[in-house]
Amino acid sequence: MADPDFSIINTDKGEGVTYTCGCPCVPAAVPADGAAGFEHCCCGKVHFAGAGAEPALTAYLAGRANRKREPRYTRGLATVGAIEVAWAFPEE
Ligand SMILES: [Zn+2]
Ligand SMILES: [Zn+2]
Repeated sequence: MADPDFSIINTDKGEGVTYTCGCPCVPAAVPADGAAGFEHCCCGKVHFAGAGAEPALTAYLAGRANRKREPRYTRGLATVGAIEVAWAFPEE
């Protein structure tokens, strides 16, 4: 899988990170209060943006795995502008 084409997006919650998802959504993760924000898209892709994005993603996925059957994810890290990004996309 190629890395997602992350870019900065300005939302009414502030500056965040989006990518071309492949579904009709424009998923945007917006950091808030110095912590990473995230969006879990309807198509199953998750991304976190902001400080501590990677541990936040790890904790989020671990919490979900306790509650429901989860797909296998391909994970990666990126830096977009000055924003840390961690992503997990279901394997095809
Ligand atoms: Zn969608
Ligand atoms: Zn999507």
